[in-house]
Amino acid sequence: KMVLKIDFKDPSEEAFDRELFEAATTDPLTKIPNRRSFVERALGELACARRKNLYAHAVMCDVDHFKKVNDTWGHQTGDMILRTIAQIFSRNKRESDLFARYGGEEFVFLLTEMSKADALKSAERLRKAVESYRFTFEDKTIPVTISLGVASFKGKDIPTIDTMITAADKHLYYAKDHGRNQVVGDMQTP
Ligand code: GH3
Ligand code: MG
Ligand code: MG
Repeated sequence: KMVLKIDFKDPSEEAFDRELFEAATTDPLTKIPNRRSFVERALGELACARRKNLYAHAVMCDVDHFKKVNDTWGHQTGDMILRTIAQIFSRNKRESDLFARYGGEEFVFLLTEMSKADALKSAERLRKAVESYRFTFEDKTIPVTISLGVASFKGKDIPTIDTMITAADKHLYYAKDHGRNQVVGDMQTP
């Protein structure tokens, strides 16, 4: 005997499910993916890059002197800047690039199917996009810059996403120590 059960959801239940999914995968402030959903999706991307012997690049991004931005312009304005940066990233990354708000004023990207040089170019495009955007508060311009660290791995040498992020973070801190508002990758650190 075979029993076939078809479970129809009414529209309100479906909307509720969607809201739950959104809440679990999206950062509430910026409305971009959160760290948890980033890490989950990165697993599949990295497995694919290992199998195809392709590059995978982790990019860690941190807003420069953001504590001072908050102190000068207020926490609300700080929040507005984080939301705007998330939109700038959404517009300037490739559709296939994974990204997330990693926490606080940090963002992370996973770039695949591109060379090291192109990964650095992508990071540089993000940096320029933020630098050239005119953030304002009551008609006054707020200068905002970001620093980025890029760590590249290829094929079977691709470690876990956490290890990739740690490597990118190391380069990010080199960028912070050497003047901020810049991209640092594998080739630039000693
Ligand atoms: P650095 O250039 O070295 O990164 O300096 P920084 O001031 O950005 O670094 P620090 O880690 O000292 O400060 C980060 C600041 O980011 C402190 C914290 O209040 C602020 N911040 C983190 N999350 C949020 C947020 O959601 N909204 C606002 N407005 N500020 C936030
Ligand atoms: Mg930080
Ligand atoms: Mg910072």
